[in-house]
Amino acid sequence: MARQTAQQLYAEDYAPTSVWAVDATLPAGCALPLPDVADIVIVGAGYTGLSAAHETAAAGRLTVVLDAGPIGGGCSSRNGGQVAFSIKPDYQKLERRYGAARASALYEEGAAAVVALDELVRRERLACDWRDNGCFIGAHTPAHYEALQRLADEHRRRLSTPIELVPRSRQRDEIDTDFYHGGLVFPADYSVHPIKLLNALHARAVSVGAQVHDHCEVLRFSRESYGISVYTTQGFIKARQVLLATNGYTGALSPWHRRRVIPVGSYQIATEILDPSFVKSMVPKARNLGDTRHVVMYARPTPDGRRIIFGGRASAAEQNLTRVVPRLVRMMQQVFPQLTGVRISRAWMGFVGFTFDSLPHMGGVDDLFYCMGYCGQGIPLSIYYGRKAGLKMLKRAESATALDGLTFPTRPFYDGFPWFLPAAIHIYRLRDRFGW
Ligand SMILES: Cc1cc2nc3c(=O)[nH]c(=O)nc-3n(C[C@H](O)[C@H](O)[C@H](O)COP(=O)(O)OP(=O)(O)OC[C@H]3O[C@@H](n4cnc5c(N)ncnc54)[C@H](O)[C@@H]3O)c2cc1C
Repeated sequence: MARQTAQQLYAEDYAPTSVWAVDATLPAGCALPLPDVADIVIVGAGYTGLSAAHETAAAGRLTVVLDAGPIGGGCSSRNGGQVAFSIKPDYQKLERRYGAARASALYEEGAAAVVALDELVRRERLACDWRDNGCFIGAHTPAHYEALQRLADEHRRRLSTPIELVPRSRQRDEIDTDFYHGGLVFPADYSVHPIKLLNALHARAVSVGAQVHDHCEVLRFSRESYGISVYTTQGFIKARQVLLATNGYTGALSPWHRRRVIPVGSYQIATEILDPSFVKSMVPKARNLGDTRHVVMYARPTPDGRRIIFGGRASAAEQNLTRVVPRLVRMMQQVFPQLTGVRISRAWMGFVGFTFDSLPHMGGVDDLFYCMGYCGQGIPLSIYYGRKAGLKMLKRAESATALDGLTFPTRPFYDGFPWFLPAAIHIYRLRDRFGW
């Protein structure tokens, strides 16, 4: 594929920011000074932190949420907005590891997280471009299509949500490409506008009394007789309990958690504004899109139906956007050759939080709690488990989850810098190239 010049690649309005910021802004931070004392301090104002804050503030606890950057400035304002069943390991793997009861419970919770978000959005009429548009997963090779058939059988045995196998002969009903060898449709998946969802969750938390402060980094904390001393760039708070909701942005603040979360860059581009009928011709049912490659790719039309957004892992090492955009464009044109010549208007990235067992983790004792590690698919899980984390801090019985009691694993020689990632991604690339 010929290399494109910057003029051919970038639209005049190009900006290295997320497409979601075109028609939505991040919430403003709390105007009050930090309190000297709080019942609960939550570190991280993304979906996890705001969901937890809603529970604790609604229960009358003085709840203060602190974010080092803007509110939602981590993944929660820059994701792809695809809402799906998001427990990564397959059922057999979970059953081998933990036994049938825990495996089933984890699967049920993965499904419950999606249902709970759908109910929340509808019940409270959250204005977040919520759509039940479903998702198409393309088979990268004929063998992958056979694997998808087995996956569909397994899905039907374990979950009550619908699933449809789409042979290559009917693929164009879902996506206008020959790139795939058939695929699967999950009709009960949803899509959302990430920043609008963030604003709605922020407004919910604030409406019950939570204080959400931006640009207030937590530098360190120490255990005291009354709870935890929290030292921030804006002052000091005596807290009774602290929740770490820092996911892929977990840093030096807590080396124990940093050794357990693997930050992985995920990159996205959005096209310039296109004719809506052209977008519809490519993705007739406005589905979310993904495929079976190991190196993840995901795409979808924007809610206004005027752009395609396309994301994934464009390079083995973390790169700046200038190097990543041409690669993502080539990947996008492989799937949609009809987008050749279409320019890019937005590009952005964020750090998702993977874990060594591909499961999220939450827990804590007495005064220090955590909830993180959604492995790149955290919209439903962060809201579901964030709420549970809030309930755990309140010591409520309904805080129980299938994650309770799981060990949060690390590996020798891992201190938070994923030195092994480039090698792992190279291996995945080879497996994708040769269809293994
Ligand atoms: C490009 C991209 C695409 C994605 N697409 C999807 C998708 O389509 N579907 C899906 O389900 N998921 C997707 N995700 C993942 C999803 O967005 C996340 O799993 C989810 O937003 C996690 O929310 P969170 O609140 O746990 O973490 P975040 O939103 O990342 O928030 C963590 C916050 O902690 C703050 N923080 C860290 N350290 C400190 C400190 N010391 N003091 C104060 N604050 C601190 C950070 O500033 C950050 O704001 C995507 C992610 C990315 C990056």
